[in-house]
Amino acid sequence: MQKIPEIEELIKLISKLPSLGPKSARRIILKLINNRDEIMKPMLSSLKDLLKNVSRCNLCGSLKSIETGCINCENVSKKFNKICVVENIADQWSIENSSIFQGYFHVLGGTISNSNNQRKGDLLIESLIERIKKDNIEEVILATSATVEGQTTAFYIQDSLKKTNVIISKLAQGLPVGGEIENLDDGTLISAFKNRKELDEKFD
Ligand SMILES: [Zn+2]
Repeated sequence: MQKIPEIEELIKLISKLPSLGPKSARRIILKLINNRDEIMKPMLSSLKDLLKNVSRCNLCGSLKSIETGCINCENVSKKFNKICVVENIADQWSIENSSIFQGYFHVLGGTISNSNNQRKGDLLIESLIERIKKDNIEEVILATSATVEGQTTAFYIQDSLKKTNVIISKLAQGLPVGGEIENLDDGTLISAFKNRKELDEKFD
Protein backbone atom coordinates (compact mmCIF):
# COMPACT_ATOMS: atom_id res chain seq x y z
CA MET A 1 0.00 0.00 0.00
CA GLN A 2 1.14 3.56 -0.71
CA LYS A 3 2.64 5.30 2.30
CA ILE A 4 1.79 8.96 1.92
CA PRO A 5 3.17 10.86 4.94
CA GLU A 6 0.18 13.22 5.30
CA ILE A 7 -2.18 10.26 5.33
CA GLU A 8 -0.03 8.19 7.71
CA GLU A 9 0.08 11.10 10.15
CA LEU A 10 -3.69 11.54 10.07
CA ILE A 11 -4.25 7.78 10.51
CA LYS A 12 -2.19 7.98 13.72
CA LEU A 13 -4.28 10.88 15.01
CA ILE A 14 -7.71 9.51 14.09
CA SER A 15 -6.79 6.13 15.62
CA LYS A 16 -6.48 7.89 18.98
CA LEU A 17 -10.20 8.74 18.91
CA PRO A 18 -12.70 6.54 20.79
CA SER A 19 -13.83 3.40 18.91
CA LEU A 20 -11.65 4.12 15.87
CA GLY A 21 -8.73 1.99 14.74
CA PRO A 22 -6.40 2.37 11.73
CA LYS A 23 -8.88 0.66 9.40
CA SER A 24 -11.72 3.08 10.21
CA ALA A 25 -9.20 5.94 10.06
CA ARG A 26 -8.30 5.02 6.46
CA ARG A 27 -11.98 4.90 5.49
CA ILE A 28 -12.60 8.30 7.08
CA ILE A 29 -9.62 9.82 5.28
CA LEU A 30 -10.74 8.47 1.90
CA LYS A 31 -14.21 9.86 2.50
CA LEU A 32 -12.68 13.26 3.31
CA ILE A 33 -10.43 13.26 0.23
CA ASN A 34 -13.35 12.32 -2.00
CA ASN A 35 -15.56 15.04 -0.49
CA ARG A 36 -13.25 18.02 -0.19
CA ASP A 37 -15.91 20.71 -0.50
CA GLU A 38 -18.85 18.96 1.16
CA ILE A 39 -17.04 17.51 4.19
CA MET A 40 -13.31 18.24 4.46
CA LYS A 41 -13.41 22.04 4.22
CA PRO A 42 -16.44 22.58 6.51
CA MET A 43 -14.96 20.10 9.01
CA LEU A 44 -11.64 21.93 9.02
CA SER A 45 -13.41 25.18 9.70
CA SER A 46 -15.59 23.61 12.43
CA LEU A 47 -12.53 22.16 14.14
CA LYS A 48 -10.83 25.55 14.05
CA ASP A 49 -13.91 27.15 15.66
CA LEU A 50 -14.05 24.38 18.26
CA LEU A 51 -10.40 24.88 19.16
CA LYS A 52 -10.70 28.65 19.34
CA ASN A 53 -14.15 29.12 20.91
CA VAL A 54 -15.05 26.13 23.09
CA SER A 55 -13.40 25.37 26.41
CA ARG A 56 -14.16 24.09 29.91
CA CYS A 57 -15.78 26.65 32.20
CA ASN A 58 -13.51 27.12 35.18
CA LEU A 59 -16.45 27.61 37.55
CA CYS A 60 -18.67 24.62 36.78
CA GLY A 61 -16.35 22.45 34.67
CA SER A 62 -18.87 22.12 31.86
CA LEU A 63 -18.29 23.35 28.31
CA LYS A 64 -18.77 26.94 27.29
CA SER A 65 -18.37 28.83 24.04
CA ILE A 66 -17.13 32.37 23.50
CA GLU A 67 -20.40 33.14 21.74
CA THR A 68 -22.86 32.03 24.44
CA GLY A 69 -20.72 32.03 27.59
CA CYS A 70 -21.47 29.18 29.99
CA ILE A 71 -25.13 28.20 29.63
CA ASN A 72 -24.76 25.85 32.61
CA CYS A 73 -23.74 28.38 35.27
CA GLU A 74 -23.61 31.96 33.86
CA ASN A 75 -26.25 32.60 31.24
CA VAL A 76 -28.98 30.30 32.43
CA SER A 77 -32.47 31.03 31.21
CA LYS A 78 -34.07 29.43 34.28
CA LYS A 79 -33.11 29.39 37.96
CA PHE A 80 -32.78 26.04 39.70
CA ASN A 81 -32.23 24.93 43.29
CA LYS A 82 -30.37 21.70 42.57
CA ILE A 83 -26.86 20.87 41.37
CA CYS A 84 -25.94 17.46 40.03
CA VAL A 85 -22.25 16.60 40.46
CA VAL A 86 -20.82 14.36 37.75
CA GLU A 87 -17.34 13.12 36.88
CA ASN A 88 -17.18 14.23 33.27
CA ILE A 89 -19.05 15.97 30.47
CA ALA A 90 -20.17 12.69 28.87
CA ASP A 91 -22.01 11.95 32.15
CA GLN A 92 -23.73 15.35 32.00
CA TRP A 93 -24.84 14.63 28.43
CA SER A 94 -26.25 11.20 29.39
CA ILE A 95 -28.26 12.68 32.26
CA GLU A 96 -29.51 15.55 30.07
CA ASN A 97 -30.59 13.05 27.41
CA SER A 98 -32.59 11.05 29.95
CA SER A 99 -34.52 14.26 30.93
CA ILE A 100 -34.72 13.03 34.53
CA PHE A 101 -32.95 16.03 36.06
CA GLN A 102 -33.84 19.72 35.96
CA GLY A 103 -31.04 21.75 37.44
CA TYR A 104 -27.42 22.81 37.16
CA PHE A 105 -24.47 20.51 36.60
CA HIS A 106 -21.07 20.55 38.21
CA VAL A 107 -18.45 18.64 36.25
CA LEU A 108 -15.49 17.49 38.35
CA GLY A 109 -13.32 16.54 35.40
CA GLY A 110 -12.19 13.29 37.03
CA THR A 111 -12.14 11.37 40.27
CA ILE A 112 -9.78 10.96 43.17
CA SER A 113 -8.45 7.60 44.18
CA ASN A 114 -6.93 6.68 47.53
CA SER A 115 -3.44 6.83 46.08
CA ASN A 116 -3.95 10.07 44.17
CA ASN A 117 -4.49 12.89 46.66
CA GLN A 118 -3.15 15.67 44.47
CA ARG A 119 -6.21 15.43 42.22
CA LYS A 120 -8.41 16.86 44.99
CA GLY A 121 -7.34 20.40 44.14
CA ASP A 122 -8.40 19.98 40.51
CA LEU A 123 -12.00 18.99 41.17
CA LEU A 124 -13.47 22.53 41.41
CA ILE A 125 -14.74 21.93 44.96
CA GLU A 126 -14.18 25.56 46.02
CA SER A 127 -16.28 26.81 43.12
CA LEU A 128 -18.95 24.21 43.94
CA ILE A 129 -19.22 25.72 47.44
CA GLU A 130 -19.40 29.23 45.92
CA ARG A 131 -22.14 28.18 43.54
CA ILE A 132 -24.17 26.60 46.35
CA LYS A 133 -24.10 29.93 48.23
CA LYS A 134 -24.56 32.22 45.24
CA ASP A 135 -27.47 30.35 43.67
CA ASN A 136 -29.17 29.38 46.98
CA ILE A 137 -28.85 25.71 46.13
CA GLU A 138 -30.97 23.39 48.29
CA GLU A 139 -29.80 20.01 47.11
CA VAL A 140 -26.56 18.60 45.73
CA ILE A 141 -26.97 15.25 43.99
CA LEU A 142 -23.80 13.19 43.79
CA ALA A 143 -23.92 11.26 40.52
CA THR A 144 -20.44 9.74 40.49
CA SER A 145 -19.87 6.25 39.14
CA ALA A 146 -20.34 3.08 41.18
CA THR A 147 -16.58 2.48 41.08
CA VAL A 148 -14.14 2.71 44.01
CA GLU A 149 -12.82 6.04 42.67
CA GLY A 150 -16.34 7.38 42.08
CA GLN A 151 -17.44 6.49 45.61
CA THR A 152 -14.22 7.85 47.20
CA THR A 153 -14.82 11.09 45.32
CA ALA A 154 -18.47 11.24 46.45
CA PHE A 155 -17.38 10.79 50.06
CA TYR A 156 -14.75 13.52 49.72
CA ILE A 157 -17.29 15.98 48.30
CA GLN A 158 -19.82 15.09 51.00
CA ASP A 159 -17.14 15.83 53.60
CA SER A 160 -16.11 19.10 51.88
CA LEU A 161 -19.72 20.35 51.85
CA LYS A 162 -20.57 19.64 55.46
CA LYS A 163 -20.19 23.32 56.43
CA THR A 164 -22.86 24.35 53.95
CA ASN A 165 -26.47 23.64 54.89
CA VAL A 166 -27.24 21.97 51.63
CA ILE A 167 -28.98 18.61 51.42
CA ILE A 168 -26.61 16.07 49.89
CA SER A 169 -28.02 13.03 48.17
CA LYS A 170 -26.48 10.21 46.22
CA LEU A 171 -27.83 8.15 43.35
CA ALA A 172 -29.51 4.93 44.43
CA GLN A 173 -27.37 1.90 45.06
CA GLY A 174 -29.23 0.10 42.28
CA LEU A 175 -26.42 1.28 40.03
CA PRO A 176 -24.51 -1.76 38.81
CA VAL A 177 -21.16 -2.07 40.63
CA GLY A 178 -18.47 -0.59 38.41
CA GLY A 179 -21.20 1.22 36.47
CA GLU A 180 -20.09 4.44 34.84
CA ILE A 181 -22.85 7.01 34.49
CA GLU A 182 -22.30 7.66 30.78
CA ASN A 183 -22.83 3.96 29.96
CA LEU A 184 -26.11 3.50 31.84
CA ASP A 185 -29.36 3.13 29.96
CA ASP A 186 -32.06 5.74 30.56
CA GLY A 187 -34.22 3.37 32.65
CA THR A 188 -31.42 2.63 35.14
CA LEU A 189 -30.47 6.30 35.30
CA ILE A 190 -34.04 7.44 35.91
CA SER A 191 -34.59 4.90 38.69
CA ALA A 192 -31.21 5.83 40.29
CA PHE A 193 -32.31 9.49 40.37
CA LYS A 194 -35.82 8.78 41.65
CA ASN A 195 -34.53 6.55 44.44
CA ARG A 196 -31.61 8.76 45.45
CA LYS A 197 -30.79 8.81 49.15
CA GLU A 198 -30.11 11.75 51.40
CA LEU A 199 -26.68 11.53 53.05
CA ASP A 200 -26.23 14.47 55.40
CA GLU A 201 -27.43 12.86 58.65
CA LYS A 202 -24.15 10.91 58.91
CA PHE A 203 -22.27 14.05 59.92
CA ASP A 204 -24.59 15.26 62.70
ZN1 LIG B 1 -19.98 27.27 33.91
